[in-house]
Amino acid sequence: MVKSNLEIMSDRKRLMGSGIPTFYDEPIQLVKGEGVWVWDEGGRRYLDCYNNVPHVGHCHPKVTEAIYKQSCQLNTHTRYLHEGIVRYLDKLTSTFCEYISSAILTCTGSEANDLALRMGEVMSGKTGVIATDHTYHGNTATVSQLSLTNSPRIGKKDNIRYVPAPDSYRPLGGKAGMDHGHAFAVQVKKMIEELESSGHGFSAIIVCPFFANEGFPNLCDGFLDPTVKLVHDAGGIVIADEVQPGFGRLGSHMWGHQKIGLKPDIVTLGKPMGNGYPIAGVMTSPEILSAFQDSFRYFNTFGGNPVACAAGEAVLDIIDEEKLVERALDVGSHSLERLKDLSERYSCIGDVRGSGLFFGAELVVDPNTREPDPNLAQKVVNEMRNEGILINRIGINYNTLKIRPNLQFTKENADLLVDTLEKVLTRIKKSL
Ligand code: PMP
Repeated sequence: MVKSNLEIMSDRKRLMGSGIPTFYDEPIQLVKGEGVWVWDEGGRRYLDCYNNVPHVGHCHPKVTEAIYKQSCQLNTHTRYLHEGIVRYLDKLTSTFCEYISSAILTCTGSEANDLALRMGEVMSGKTGVIATDHTYHGNTATVSQLSLTNSPRIGKKDNIRYVPAPDSYRPLGGKAGMDHGHAFAVQVKKMIEELESSGHGFSAIIVCPFFANEGFPNLCDGFLDPTVKLVHDAGGIVIADEVQPGFGRLGSHMWGHQKIGLKPDIVTLGKPMGNGYPIAGVMTSPEILSAFQDSFRYFNTFGGNPVACAAGEAVLDIIDEEKLVERALDVGSHSLERLKDLSERYSCIGDVRGSGLFFGAELVVDPNTREPDPNLAQKVVNEMRNEGILINRIGINYNTLKIRPNLQFTKENADLLVDTLEKVLTRIKKSL
């Protein structure tokens, strides 16, 4: 007997605490996934336009087979020699530019970012970190400090400084393109100086190269160049958090930093890496890795075990064999065009942006004032769910629809998504 949603919600409260979050006003109980679809306990099918972990498709048979086969064979850890682990890392490092040729594997993106910050400390001998004021990089004691939006209520440490998240719809200094990039760098410079005079000193800047949690602003190539120069001149390092844009999602490149021409010192990976099997990692140069290893003894019991690497390798093979990066570009462009067309007929859509299969629309009260409409965004997300389409919202003002389907998404799926969005917007607007 399947438990009802009400029963599970009450069990969750009892067993997992009342602070455990759910999506949507009416949470969904999911029991099955395949490709871009998920099913609830009553057999209803939903088009999953949001979950980025099942990157190559829910329950892709090649990934499940790889996990099954390796689980039947052996699962230990990285203290034993295992060919599958190095074979995977060879494939993974080959997707980066030459100097990023070594890695530490972990289980979560949070751990990966924690290690990246430690590498920054080792390289700079200092502890101050800069992040944007609307980011999220994970949940360890150190990494949770980077997030103002999820910050610990018991107070914050003093070694983090925040710069305003880039917003291409309302750019700092009023200008787009490289002017915006320079305006961003000015803020970074201010914070480097503050950290230096605070006694912490400046160690690293950590950014998502697509600024996903910030609402994925449209940034020009080289946007971060002035920032990178400042950071390196100050003896700091650049950490690119690829947990959301990585593995080809953006369509044009395998990695988000490659798309904007950023050359980070460290790259962190997570979510899509094992299509749901926990695997994440820190990628860096051999110099940084060996400096880290001279300073810290690090071993991760589950990180990069043979089953995790088998899942990771299957994901890379599928991206390659099924040409999923090219497909993300093609289907993503179609989706963006359809959304742009919709925005011409609905004035509440102030901005449409994105890249590949990571796109969305910013909802506003009035396109002239650009006043954000988070309430409308929330209504739309819930109504879409009721129509069988799963999306979410994000951004500095939580008014940006966040659409991030897995790479099996098709043009027909995109049409269904946009047609449903139109239906929902019409209905909401009529009832306002
Ligand atoms: N970095 C970014 C950009 C993320 O979005 C997340 C997770 N949402 C993390 C890091 C943390 O990853 P994990 O939940 O695997 O620790």
